[in-house]
Amino acid sequence: MLLIHCPYCEEERPELEFRHAGEAHIARPTDMAAMSDEDFEKFFFIRSNPKGVIYERWRHVHGCARFFNAVRDTVTDKFVMTYKAGEPQPKKLPGAGK
Ligand SMILES: [Zn+2]
Repeated sequence: MLLIHCPYCEEERPELEFRHAGEAHIARPTDMAAMSDEDFEKFFFIRSNPKGVIYERWRHVHGCARFFNAVRDTVTDKFVMTYKAGEPQPKKLPGAGK
């Protein structure tokens, strides 16, 4: 069973308690009505979808119900770390580099 650490509940809980909520750290436009169709398409539909480390939003829907961010490796499906919403995107990851 995949366990995910909720940074608010401060414990690992089963994956079934969580819902994926898209890529993290996407800059939301301040004036969506003024955007060109191409810029809106880029904001709304285009995601990085990398092979490897990705930053994602998750929600602990069957727990505290709060949104948080996670760093996950799309190749291994392992969660590298989770952190609270609003915290800066970690540049140095646990276990990465020496
Ligand atoms: Zn929680």
